[in-house]
Amino acid sequence: MKAAAFDYVKPKALPEALSLLAEAGEDARLIAGGQTLLATLNMRLSEPSILIDITDISELKGITLQGDHLRIGALVTHTEIEDSELIAKHAPLLKAAAPHIAHRAIRNLGTWGGSLAYGDPAAEWPACSLTLDAIMIIHGPAGERRISAQDFFIDLYTTSLEPDDILVATEIPIASSNQVFYFHELSRRHGDYAVAGLAAVAKKQGDALTDCAFTFFSVGTTPVMALQAQEIINGQAVNQDLIARAVSAARSEIEAIADITNSAEAKQHLIGVLLERGLKHLVS
Ligand SMILES: Cc1cc2nc3c(=O)[nH]c(=O)nc-3n(C[C@H](O)[C@H](O)[C@H](O)COP(=O)(O)OP(=O)(O)OC[C@H]3O[C@@H](n4cnc5c(N)ncnc54)[C@H](O)[C@@H]3O)c2cc1C
Repeated sequence: MKAAAFDYVKPKALPEALSLLAEAGEDARLIAGGQTLLATLNMRLSEPSILIDITDISELKGITLQGDHLRIGALVTHTEIEDSELIAKHAPLLKAAAPHIAHRAIRNLGTWGGSLAYGDPAAEWPACSLTLDAIMIIHGPAGERRISAQDFFIDLYTTSLEPDDILVATEIPIASSNQVFYFHELSRRHGDYAVAGLAAVAKKQGDALTDCAFTFFSVGTTPVMALQAQEIINGQAVNQDLIARAVSAARSEIEAIADITNSAEAKQHLIGVLLERGLKHLVS
């Protein structure tokens, strides 16, 4: 199928994009890398009357170190994250996750902001941003607002972005020297969306882990943190018994839902598999 006809504009600055968006209202769509949107247009799942191409807007570009956090512009591509020295040094979880997103050709175009704004529960960046306690910087008609990743992902493909908002950038606290990371996903083939995945971070103190954040993706309608499992692990010496308790807690606190090929039971099982592997990796 072909997309329905639409107008196309390419503003050079953020205020211009915001006024175009405000004028067109729900009839408009922003386009960044187009790696998700173009497919939905071609399948006529979405029929906007106007596409606002934001790829010339410099305020949305670049990865910068700003004090104790990294600022990742919404237009930063998956490849830029994968190849960035700043990301490797200060946000190693993102470095580990990037190669799992599709294939290089898609990563060259698809953007950090497009992935977060789309809010796919199977995507890697929403889960990583939750684990890393990211702050979303959003511009809308009333100016700038900042929303934590915890409050950003609301439901299936639904975020707290309003139709006249633009996600400008994300701030991520930089990693501390005793922080350890684990990213893994189980998928049928490399590049496929995960059947289930885990993005985890903790601080390592001897045999114990503190400040744990374990976020599972591709198991529910949003990325989901295993809060009870985190509490079980926090501050305790990690041994097989503690791991078994955390695994059992994660499997019961997260209500996995089936997708087109995998049952809820399979995903529930994989939550435990991923957590056990992750904990062993984090304390190793
Ligand atoms: C074959 C294939 C495999 C893929 N596999 C994976 C995968 O394994 N993991 C994964 O995470 N993704 C995967 N993707 C999706 C890919 O990562 C996309 O790049 C990403 O989901 C969307 O980014 P984009 O820049 O292409 O956004 P677009 O397609 O341009 O836009 C997506 C949506 O976000 C909105 N939007 C974009 N930017 C902004 C902004 N700054 N502010 C507000 N709204 C905005 C758009 O209006 C649109 O609704 C895959 C895509 C393809 C085609």
